[in-house]
Order: sequence, then structure tokens, then C-alpha cells
Amino acid sequence: MKIFLVASIGALILFSCSENRPKKIAIQPYGNFDETLKDSVITSIEKTYGFEVTALPYKEIPKSAFVNIKSPRYRADTIIHILRREMPEEYDHIVGLTSLDISTTKTEDNGNTLKPQYKYEDWGIFGLGFRPGASCVISTFRLKTADQQLFMERLKKVCNHEIGHNLGLPHCESSDKCVMKDAAESIKTVDNVHLLLCDDCAAQIN
Ligand SMILES: [Zn+2]
Ligand SMILES: [Zn+2]
Repeated sequence: MKIFLVASIGALILFSCSENRPKKIAIQPYGNFDETLKDSVITSIEKTYGFEVTALPYKEIPKSAFVNIKSPRYRADTIIHILRREMPEEYDHIVGLTSLDISTTKTEDNGNTLKPQYKYEDWGIFGLGFRPGASCVISTFRLKTADQQLFMERLKKVCNHEIGHNLGLPHCESSDKCVMKDAAESIKTVDNVHLLLCDDCAAQIN
């Protein structure tokens, strides 16, 4: 009885610690990713999710992710696997940031590559994240515009979106303005959504 009591108190303490502790997120900047942009991303994630965000030292983007199928790109699926594997133990999630073009293969529900295959086998994307999972990667390559403020908004939205996937959120069907709405291959969708989760999505992660 005594042992059981001690064990259940122990479990209770463990449970309450993990409940109250803010999640710890690591940012992994790659290559020459702009430092000011990185700092803005950190502030934005802290504000949006209330996480404790730390920047790791800069690294080169993994060479094993490089492909040159349509143009020189880095496979986002390879990068998120590497990020997950290399994430220091103390963190809950890790976010890769790059200015280089990233891609993945777009598939149907059955796993086959979408048609036409030449178009979708190596498809350039804004970001990719496990759902749910520990890691995601975001690229500024396809977010660029002369309007710096708009560019920054896009970057913050894509970060919030991919972290939302890491937290288990699917694409949002509740609100056209939710940051978890499917970008549907278009930067216009990104520009059209708000920076934050809609109430339905926010309720799912709280
Ligand atoms: Zn998505
Ligand atoms: Zn939503």
C-alpha cells in the first residue's frame, strides 16, 4: 500500500510538471539564413504558442537532402528526419530555417505520386512538418516579395502552420482565415489567412 501511494504521488508530480512546463522549441538556422529574420521568427513563435524558444548555432543544410530533378533543391522530408534525429534531448520540437529551395513529393491518399508525375515528384514548397511530430522545416525561397513586411508576415505564418502540424493539427476546415488552412499550392492562400490559429484549432491543442 505504501509503495503504491508513493508511486502514485510520484506519477502525480511528474504529470503536473509536464503539464505546467512550457514546451521547449529549438530553432536550427541553416547556411546564411538572415539573423534578423531568425530573431523575428523566435519572437513570433513565443507570442503565438507561448513556447520557450532557443536558437541553436548555425549549421550547413544537410548535403544528403540535395536533389537536382527540376532545379537545385533540398528534400524537406529528408531534412525533417535529420532534424528529428539530431534534436538535443531537452527540446520538444525543432524548427529548421533555410533560404534555399525545399521540396517534397506530392502524393495521393494511397501513396502514389500525384499526376502529372514530372510536376509532383519534386514539388517546391514553403514548409513541411510531421503531424504530429518533433520537427519541421521552413524555406523563405518561395515567400520572397519586394514588400519586406509582407515577406515577414508570410514567414511567420508558414512557421505557425508547420508548428501547428507538429502539434497534431490537420488542415483547418473551420475557417478560411485560419493559419492552418491548406496553402493549396498558392502563396495567395498564405497571404489571405491570419497569423494565428482559429478558435477551433486553438482549442484542439490546449
Ligand atoms: Zn499544411
Ligand atoms: Zn483553424
